[in-house]
Amino acid sequence: MNTDNANQEPELIDLYQKPEKIYTRSFSGHFRTLRLAGGTFLFLLFFGTCWINLNGRQAVLFDLPARQFHIFGTTYWPQDFILLSWLLIICAFGLFALTVFAGRIWCGYTCPQSVFTWVFMWAERITEGERNRRMKMDKEPMSLGKFLRKSAKHTLWLSIAFATALTFVGYFIPIRQLVLDLATFDVSPWGIFWLGFFTLATYGNAGYLREQVCIYMCPYARFQSVMFDNDTLVVAYDKHRGEQRGPRKKSADHKTMGLGDCVDCSVCVQVCPTGIDIRDGLQYQCIGCAACIDACDTIMDKMGYDKGLIRYTTDNELAGQKTHWLRPRLIGYSSALFIMICLFIFSVGHRVPLELEVLRDRNVLFRVINDDQVENIYTLKVANKDQQPHHIKIRVAGIENLKIAGRTAIVVEPGSVQQEIIRVIAPLIDGAPSTRPVRFSISSSQPGLEAISAESRFMVPGPERKP
Ligand code: SF4
Ligand code: SF4
Repeated sequence: MNTDNANQEPELIDLYQKPEKIYTRSFSGHFRTLRLAGGTFLFLLFFGTCWINLNGRQAVLFDLPARQFHIFGTTYWPQDFILLSWLLIICAFGLFALTVFAGRIWCGYTCPQSVFTWVFMWAERITEGERNRRMKMDKEPMSLGKFLRKSAKHTLWLSIAFATALTFVGYFIPIRQLVLDLATFDVSPWGIFWLGFFTLATYGNAGYLREQVCIYMCPYARFQSVMFDNDTLVVAYDKHRGEQRGPRKKSADHKTMGLGDCVDCSVCVQVCPTGIDIRDGLQYQCIGCAACIDACDTIMDKMGYDKGLIRYTTDNELAGQKTHWLRPRLIGYSSALFIMICLFIFSVGHRVPLELEVLRDRNVLFRVINDDQVENIYTLKVANKDQQPHHIKIRVAGIENLKIAGRTAIVVEPGSVQQEIIRVIAPLIDGAPSTRPVRFSISSSQPGLEAISAESRFMVPGPERKP
């Protein structure tokens, strides 16, 4: 036995690799401009929509306590959740089709995680300085200057995060009221909780977790490879053109030196928000943001080489083969998507904003009136899912000479359910006791809402005529 080994303390190996902090450098280019334009549009949409009012009400409001979802003049109820599921399926198919065609373009340009991360990076840059400055400062001991810069960054991050949380919560609690409540310190406990939760979530996700969300938490990164094929558009480095990489003078004839177009400046790595080197090939960490394309194009310009050493391309094109833009998988996803969108639009367009439910009175099955008539009692529940009142007429049919005793016209206020007790009377017929089908229908004065109906049963007594 080796006594030296026996006396040694067991060595602890940390299986968790601590992520290294990524310091991105700033860059410019066509794709950055495109992303900026897209991001600005999405920001305006997100921050602006909740302030639009329509018919005296917030145009987009998800009123959870009332279980009503107001979207631009239309109110959706929990019964309409099938439309929401349908919408989610459409989004999923849209994402599949987009991924098969253009890879992770959604991640790089429109995913909220990416968009907010870019905004937080911008805040970092204007408060702490450029990449080299930030790297240097992080190694320095705390000083007044460092403290002030860090404080400014966190204040800006928290302000953006709070504005995001306020806007998001403002889609569930009317935003004008929420701002007023905040100004008067009168926000409900749940309001405070959700404001705090979303502020911290935005601050943590976009400020600290950043690429970790894309790499470790987002399932899309994991199954994207299933959807990719050799004709999918990806961000790729053209190694046939770039290798052998190496530094050289601008004036040098690099071909005669046996060098490719890559000057090995590593700028493509320095701008990458996930910190990868695209020259190592397609990696699941790549979110397709094209920052490396913009950065490399700038270097190619400076060197006087053709742009596109890193570019949007396909595996087939890189291998010198033809790219097939139209292929069965893409046609399949796109066709399914098109059909589902058409059906969804049709369903939303033909959605009836009234609902009728009929409940029989279970306590008294029937009542004989004047020895020649029988009466059944029902409770009608009429739901008006519209944003305007409806003047409703009630009818019943199914038995000869059937009639409603009492009022047959009601007004149902918008966003409400009205219960109406209805007495239905039919002539008494001799014979065995029976239940007969009857059909209640409601019609509104509004055109196109004339045939909403529900079935029930009408009880007819036997010769003893007692319930
Ligand atoms: S930016 Fe272009 S030239 Fe510079 S290392 Fe990357 S691929 Fe090579
Ligand atoms: S490799 Fe290029 S496209 Fe991929 S995440 Fe990094 S910078 Fe964006």
